[in-house]
Amino acid sequence: MNRSSSRSASSLALLLFPLFLFADDVLSQILRSEATVTSFDPTLRIGIVQSVDTLNIDGDAQMSDTDGRALGAIQGACRIVPVATGKISVCDRTYPAPVTFTPKFGFMSVAGKMFRGKVEVVLSEKGLTAVNALHIEEYVRGVINKEIMPGWHIEAKKAQAVLARTYAVHKKVMRPRTALYDLDPTVLDQVYGGLEKEDLTANKAVADTRGEILSYNDLPAEIYFHSTCGGRTASAKEVWGKEVPYLVPVKCDHCKNSSLYRWTRVLHADEVAKKLAAAGYAVGKLKKVSIEKGDLRVAAVIVNGKRIEVNQFRKVVGYTTVYSNDFTITLSGGKLTFSGKGFGHGVGACQYGMAGMAQAGKTWREILQHYLPGAEIRKMY
Ligand SMILES: [Zn+2]
Repeated sequence: MNRSSSRSASSLALLLFPLFLFADDVLSQILRSEATVTSFDPTLRIGIVQSVDTLNIDGDAQMSDTDGRALGAIQGACRIVPVATGKISVCDRTYPAPVTFTPKFGFMSVAGKMFRGKVEVVLSEKGLTAVNALHIEEYVRGVINKEIMPGWHIEAKKAQAVLARTYAVHKKVMRPRTALYDLDPTVLDQVYGGLEKEDLTANKAVADTRGEILSYNDLPAEIYFHSTCGGRTASAKEVWGKEVPYLVPVKCDHCKNSSLYRWTRVLHADEVAKKLAAAGYAVGKLKKVSIEKGDLRVAAVIVNGKRIEVNQFRKVVGYTTVYSNDFTITLSGGKLTFSGKGFGHGVGACQYGMAGMAQAGKTWREILQHYLPGAEIRKMY
């Protein structure tokens, strides 16, 4: 999931400003009221296939146009290709795009994967895009297994379901990814592979927390999570320079079971110098390496007098080599030794910590309130 703001999304938000304001307003009314209301549309739009020349679908589905008028039906495998401006061929018959497919039995296959809900096929200059429109709850069922371990206690799974739901609602309302869809199905947002990723205990965790999200000031909270904090989480301000009242450091005694609670990695100094040079940091042979501390974590790495911001340094050397932004470095005998704490950026919820708290008998509410202090838990529907 991309935890940084995207330029295209913010310019889109400006383009959609009136709509954006409206959606924002409806949601804040919902979150302000104690009772759940029905005016919020819980449909999410995911760009499951983007800008292709040919799209293969399979299923038993009704077809309709943008006004909901019936266009016919498909049964079985079907190939979709663009034919002329604004038109597409579906199983060798031509229709004006976009065309919406509503599966008879609740799901259909698109480009070899099964998806719940409707699929709209849109044509643009870049080709065909398939947008899966489905209920937020169904989407959460499709994403949380990528983020949890099967052995987790159910309360930790519930906490993760609420985080995934909050992320989706925040994106839909505050920062949709494009004009066509709210979310990308990759790590840019949350990895979404449709039906095949679901499992029963995760589905129960989703059902038991139905409609619950984290909010702040009557708007969906901006949530982040990471694998292992190493003993204390980090603030969004320290890591990204962005002040968020509920993304502040909290103590965590619960992630000691993570294999990356403490870690050491030894690299050849020449290899690191080569990677830095390839990324535009021509520092030469490594002679002096030190770190610049921020409030709690590393702010930058100073290599031969050149300052490299820590997130850049991790990106260049490798996020799975320098596992976190909380480490020390020593240079000796041509080798660089990194000794660190935790895995990930450290902001928001610590996932191993969530698992540890659940194991120790805490509920999903207690877990989320611990890692996101000040954010409220509200039921939207
Ligand atoms: Zn932790």
